[in-house]
Amino acid sequence: MFLKGKTAIVTGSTSGIGLEYAKVFAQEGANVLINGFGAPEAIEDARAKLEAASGAKALYDPADMTRPDQIAAMVKRCHEELGGPDIIVNNAGIQHVAPIEDFPADKFEAILQINLHSAWYMMQAAVPYMKAAGWGRIISTASAHSLVASPNKSAYVMAKHGLAGLTKTIALETATHGVTVNCISPGYVWTPLVEAQIPDTMKARGMTREQVMEDVLLAAQPTKEFVTVDQVAALALFLCRDEAKAITGANLSVDGGWTAA
Ligand code: NAD
Repeated sequence: MFLKGKTAIVTGSTSGIGLEYAKVFAQEGANVLINGFGAPEAIEDARAKLEAASGAKALYDPADMTRPDQIAAMVKRCHEELGGPDIIVNNAGIQHVAPIEDFPADKFEAILQINLHSAWYMMQAAVPYMKAAGWGRIISTASAHSLVASPNKSAYVMAKHGLAGLTKTIALETATHGVTVNCISPGYVWTPLVEAQIPDTMKARGMTREQVMEDVLLAAQPTKEFVTVDQVAALALFLCRDEAKAITGANLSVDGGWTAA
């Protein structure tokens, strides 16, 4: 239980990759603050299970990642009720798939706010606590799309490339304070986010569901297998270890070879 006494906030952790990060941190004894949307009973069930796994505390905060005031309030609440934050994971994300001429402006703005700007506000709120403690871990879920592009994902690719740049900058700003800042860039991970973009891709490219799975999603991944949430979370957990303290400013691919091609 190497995270006993530490506190982690994971944004967008009611589902998918984020929930798995929260689980691995809790299994190592951390207090965890989960965030995101969903059915209240399912969120309470997840929260209670995390608390049982950690033997520490688990809180849920409904902060909307489009709202800087709510992000700052969540970080402050974490500090007051759980301590820290010692670890933050910027993970909340949404996707929309359309060619630029058809891309709705409200979707463009929401993707930038949730997938990129929220990470900046999270870091702004959390870095003072980490510097004061002389220890911190900042991890962002970027994407293979922080390194390469795909058509019809202009907002997402833009946001994820931005997240990689933000990671490098804040790594430099915190390098002498015991704080590391990295992003993890998965290829296609089988989660509700991926499942939800299949209908839009079918429409945008005139394909069947099977064609989207084989010719679009796994076409990019040389291993021809989806990445799993536990593979991504295992890397995040490693980044929290003392052995990982020299890893900062890195963009770490977990993409089955996608960006090697
Ligand atoms: P998911 O849809 O399962 O989870 C997204 C989470 O974000 C949910 O908890 C949701 O409630 C939350 N969220 C959405 N809008 C929010 C808002 N306004 N405020 C707060 N929370 C909000 O998706 P996932 O696949 O687990 O994605 C998690 C992250 O991983 C995203 O940043 C995504 O871009 C990234 N990613 C996913 C894949 C993949 O293949 N699934 C690949 C690379 C990167």
